[in-house]
Amino acid sequence: MSSSRDYPIDSQLLNILTREMNRQRDKLEMIASENFVSENILRITASVFTNKYAEGYPDFRYYGGCEYADELEILTQGRARKLFGAEHANVQPHSGSTANMAALFAVLKPGDPIMGMDMAHGGHLTHGAPVSFSGKLFKSHSYGVRQDTEQIDYEALIAQAEEVKPKVIVAGASSYPRILDFEKFRQAADRVGAILLVDMAHYAGMVAAGLYPSPVPHAEIVTSTTHKTLRGPRGGLILCRKPFGKAIDEEVFPGIQGGPLLHVIAAKAAALGEALEPDFIDYQRLILKNTQRLATRMADAGFRLVSGGTDIHLVLIDLRTKHLTGIQAEEALDKAGITANKNTIPFDTQRYTVTSGLRLGTAALTTRGMVEHHMDEVADFVVSALRSVDDEGQLKKIREAVAAFTRKFPLYPGLEF
Ligand SMILES: *Cc1c(COP(=O)(O)O)cnc(C)c1O
Repeated sequence: MSSSRDYPIDSQLLNILTREMNRQRDKLEMIASENFVSENILRITASVFTNKYAEGYPDFRYYGGCEYADELEILTQGRARKLFGAEHANVQPHSGSTANMAALFAVLKPGDPIMGMDMAHGGHLTHGAPVSFSGKLFKSHSYGVRQDTEQIDYEALIAQAEEVKPKVIVAGASSYPRILDFEKFRQAADRVGAILLVDMAHYAGMVAAGLYPSPVPHAEIVTSTTHKTLRGPRGGLILCRKPFGKAIDEEVFPGIQGGPLLHVIAAKAAALGEALEPDFIDYQRLILKNTQRLATRMADAGFRLVSGGTDIHLVLIDLRTKHLTGIQAEEALDKAGITANKNTIPFDTQRYTVTSGLRLGTAALTTRGMVEHHMDEVADFVVSALRSVDDEGQLKKIREAVAAFTRKFPLYPGLEF
């Protein structure tokens, strides 16, 4: 092979790539865990660093030719520490789940007790769900929200910690619309000498902007994804206090991963760089305003918001009062050109494949350039689709209106895929 021109992209693959691009362009992206990276980050993710092996860390690699890899990783670690005020950063985890795995493995032995939020109440798989490594390898105890407030009961959490004596308490969630009280989590951990692991996957962007309380002063270890509100490439990140650095690094590599994805680390450096710019705060502030506006419109249309509202970038809607299930809503929205996900709500009586909830996020819409008043139109599209779940003709009409609307917010103009 002398050059990549020897291998044109075959039409079958090209067709998939361009249709995905069109999907992202034409639809309203409301999955709360998704976002659109900048064109720079897109380009960097496709850089020649994808060709390079660099097992190890900047001070010790198992391969030659790592001088620029070293420089890159040191730069990225430094930006992560600076952005979040952390003592130590590992930027190698391939995903948020791997970051959590490394963090848990670094401080636990198989069979040790852990406490994490119940997945049915908003927690993540890796916080002790039975189907995950975290529930299989550790003795997992879950905490949830109160049925009346749909918020975490910290007194109950502390009492549960005293009872089950976890070695690690995991704080963090994927569909809990309220701000977590990290001081209370710290108190619970201190009562029993547990390590506090905060998984800020969903909040990282807001934390970076100072609009969500930082877990870093409270937790020994903080994990995150880089691709949600942080608006970076798909990947993970671990921050920790100095004494945990060595154990964490050894768990990431060689514990569970091989070579780092240097092209993704380069894109993480770019994302962290973007997040260090002052206008990133404006972006995060706008996400929060947009979510408030969306929440208000949905509530005005008679939808019940779990916990009565939101403090963050997402709303969780209880569809039961509208006699809809999550899967019905997800499918109707998809036909209407709106991408979102069904979600269990606390004390859901439907199976997780059906659910009674719908999770809507605004981070990706905000990246596309939508501001508060646009959320009125977005909410109107959502509401009319949810009123037309069985009306294919109406859903098609909404999809056409959505496509016309999204054209006003160009995405990667000029790019083929
Ligand atoms: C999204 C998420 C993760 C996992 O991220 P992946 O990159 O998909 O593995 C972990 N924890 C929480 C709370 C999340 O929301």
